Amino acid sequence: MQFHADTKCAKRTGWVTSELYYWHDTQNYCGFFEPGMTIQPGLHFENPETKRRFHGLVEALDLAPHLHALRPHSASDEDIHMVHPQSHIDHIAQVCASGGGDSGELTPVSRASLDIARLAVGGVLDAVDKVVAGDWDNAYVLCRPPGHHAEPERARGFCLFANAALGAKHAQQKHGLKRIATVDWDVHHGNGTEAVFYDDPSVLTISLHQNRLYPADSGDFTDMGTGDGAGTNLNIPLPPGSGSGAYRAAFEELVIPALEAFQPEMIFVPSGFDSCALDPLGMQMLASGDYAWMTARLMEVADKYAKGRIVVTHEGGYSATYVPYCGLATLEVLSGADATFEDPFAAVVAAYGGQDLSGDQKQLIDNVKEAFFK
Ligand code: ZN
Repeated sequence: MQFHADTKCAKRTGWVTSELYYWHDTQNYCGFFEPGMTIQPGLHFENPETKRRFHGLVEALDLAPHLHALRPHSASDEDIHMVHPQSHIDHIAQVCASGGGDSGELTPVSRASLDIARLAVGGVLDAVDKVVAGDWDNAYVLCRPPGHHAEPERARGFCLFANAALGAKHAQQKHGLKRIATVDWDVHHGNGTEAVFYDDPSVLTISLHQNRLYPADSGDFTDMGTGDGAGTNLNIPLPPGSGSGAYRAAFEELVIPALEAFQPEMIFVPSGFDSCALDPLGMQMLASGDYAWMTARLMEVADKYAKGRIVVTHEGGYSATYVPYCGLATLEVLSGADATFEDPFAAVVAAYGGQDLSGDQKQLIDNVKEAFFK
């Protein structure tokens, strides 16, 4: 199946990409380790291939002409100051200018990385402008470098700037939106987004992640916010091996009720497809249809409270084979395409044992529910 000229898309979906996103060079690290006398140089996990192939599939199937393409602008220091101090930008600039290296924790950069990271932030801000203005119903920003691990004063976990958090700040500060929610389905904890809004009651931050994967010391469900922000941070640390049943139960029991209670005016989705079954870093089990299902559920909430406003920011996902199909499934739902492409891997993944909700997964969800909604 291909999307032809007569394919109908019910939504105006922004599609923010740039060739330069693929030029952010994470050097010849091996996985996430710096090469040396005992580690052969290789390919960094966060290399362009997964995203380039997702972009390529959307082009090859002719879905791209049905989306609203936009070339991102470069975010200014002032834009970035909504979350990060100048010292953070200066530090990254200095590492880039020296030829590159680790700019924080597990975050290698090269000479052009700062300029490309500005384009990633700029793409998110552009998407917010378009969606809030009503030019687009929703948007997918296929950016690199990713953002959800970046803390205000530290690059972490392949992330330089907090892309989605900056988008949320921009929606509030430039457009006057009051309540924003973020729903992060990347397999790793959205620690950076959490850090930005931990004491802020105007942003509900939700993260579904594999328990104690990365960062290993964050993401517990007992971390629910502090001060005025108490009760507006929802961590759902699912056990390794969680699949369709666990994620759907977590959505129905936790994510959707939390969003219903909060009534966000806009939803951001830090979208990592490393929670898919074929990812080399994550141990979760999702298939493309699960991302489609989660997208549809979020759209129902967004239609109810947020005029449908959703901005998806691309995060992790390290299976160059499978990320394109997970991303495509998400885009099909976001754009309301009247046709869907058949994921060639779907049946294989769906047939994996352990897709049903298990006792330990249910127990975790019950524990989170008791803590968060008490
Ligand atoms: Zn991740």
